[in-house]
Amino acid sequence: MSVTGAGRSADLIVINGRVLTMDDGNPAAEAIAIKDSTIIAVGSRAAIEALKGPGTKVIDAEGGSVVPGFIEAHMHLFSGAAELAHLQLAGVHGFEALQKAIRDYASTRLDAKMLVGQGVDYTVLGSERVTRHHLDAILPDRPFVMAAPDHHTMWANTRALEMAGILNGRTLGPGNEIVMGDDGLAAGELREGEAFGPVLDLAGESRVRLGLATGGEPDPMPTAAERAADRDIMRRGLAWCARHGITSIQNMDGNLYQLELLAEIEAEEGLPCRVQIPFHYKNFMTLDMLDKASDMAGRYDSEWLSSGMVKVFYDGVLDSWTAVMVEPYADRPDWVGEPLFTPQQFIDLAVAVDRRGLQIAVHSIGDGAVRAVLDGYEAARKANGKRDSRHRVEHIEVITTTDVPRFAELGVIASMQPPHPPGAMDFPLEPTISRIGPARWPLSYAWRTLKDAGARVVFASDWPVSPIDPILGIQAAVLRKPWADSDPDQSFSLHEALAGYTVEGAYAEFAEHRKGSLKPGYMADLVVLSADLEATAPETLHKVRPVTTICGGKVTYQA
Ligand SMILES: [Zn+2]
Repeated sequence: MSVTGAGRSADLIVINGRVLTMDDGNPAAEAIAIKDSTIIAVGSRAAIEALKGPGTKVIDAEGGSVVPGFIEAHMHLFSGAAELAHLQLAGVHGFEALQKAIRDYASTRLDAKMLVGQGVDYTVLGSERVTRHHLDAILPDRPFVMAAPDHHTMWANTRALEMAGILNGRTLGPGNEIVMGDDGLAAGELREGEAFGPVLDLAGESRVRLGLATGGEPDPMPTAAERAADRDIMRRGLAWCARHGITSIQNMDGNLYQLELLAEIEAEEGLPCRVQIPFHYKNFMTLDMLDKASDMAGRYDSEWLSSGMVKVFYDGVLDSWTAVMVEPYADRPDWVGEPLFTPQQFIDLAVAVDRRGLQIAVHSIGDGAVRAVLDGYEAARKANGKRDSRHRVEHIEVITTTDVPRFAELGVIASMQPPHPPGAMDFPLEPTISRIGPARWPLSYAWRTLKDAGARVVFASDWPVSPIDPILGIQAAVLRKPWADSDPDQSFSLHEALAGYTVEGAYAEFAEHRKGSLKPGYMADLVVLSADLEATAPETLHKVRPVTTICGGKVTYQA
């Protein structure tokens, strides 16, 4: 055992735990001591109890695992928090069930300007595609819209389309589409943010969506009451993270307004999680607007609240054929998707962001998008010189053999989501696996292949796309099964999966010397779990629950 600050008694000790330190030099321990928001010792129960003084708080882990606080490396805090109040449609199948869920919800929300549902499967009506007519039959006179779990497609009824002024269609930017019906009117399916934005804005949550939709700031500026309401939404999201053992959030949308709300909460009562909010660069922006990204990075640079990242979407998703592929979709042989940036635009952007010393994280789902983004990072390295840039590619649902080794070569982080492979958790196999086609299955969601090729693989939920629970993600990674016997095994060991939610997350934010593992001198961010993860059968890992979450030495959640 090693102790820093020896001779002083601890503020808090955790004893009787199965401590998985994620520190290779000292992998297992029984107890931990914390003082002044920092871990001062990790070791045997006797050694840690020796640091107990009259004022020391003692937490008995009762034999459960004690692990580093989970680092959520890709999520959407503000919109996820707001969605906790929407109709939850995950697991609803068939017209009758959908009808009942929507009508029940509508009857409890008589004042809602727009009723919003979340998490509806693309295949909720089997092979029949959802149209406004289905939704009109369920709810004819009140506006209703519902989102697919991936948040890239929504379906609205006629009333909602009318109110949003898009029943007759509208010309949109690349990659966005209001699907039109044979009658010349919108069919109800809305692909990507420009298509469904006008509908969602009627729900009165436009400020919540800004960080994702445009990266812009509220205009007009919110009133004091609106700001207070927005802080409450943020608080709800932060509490949701703490109860799931999360102590650090790498948010994947953002604006200055979100940083300001979080700073206000920090000033009022302190934050229960550390949060990084990126600048969101959209394809209608110009490179000089990156000044704002640098400004955000300069203004917010603490251990609790930071920026320093530019988030970009290069493509959409497989299910709506908006992900960009190298070869055509297996079920649409004339189509490879449409990128949100031209390859050259992205190269120029990557060079400009990298020159500012900022980190880049790019949503790239198709193998064509992954390639274009890696090309951008390579160009940035060539233009600005090699540095420890840790640029990231988000999702990587499909990759080509030639691009696999480029992650290690370019020092690029593979940011992947164990809940996302169809069949792994909540997402059904179809339509996704038919879009990909068997020829590309071996390199789909290929985190094992990438890790074996030397890539740093960081894990996350992409909440609210998937449930936020990191333990569910760990379970999904451990239990991952191939779609065909001939496909390679992409599963992770428990330790590797846990690393994806801890040490790798710390690396992704240049903080591996301060968090992500349990070592003296590190931030006192940890979770006490209800059982011993290593002694739990993988099939029942989901039953293991956070009992106590500690962030910066403070208890932020207690079951
Ligand atoms: Zn995301």
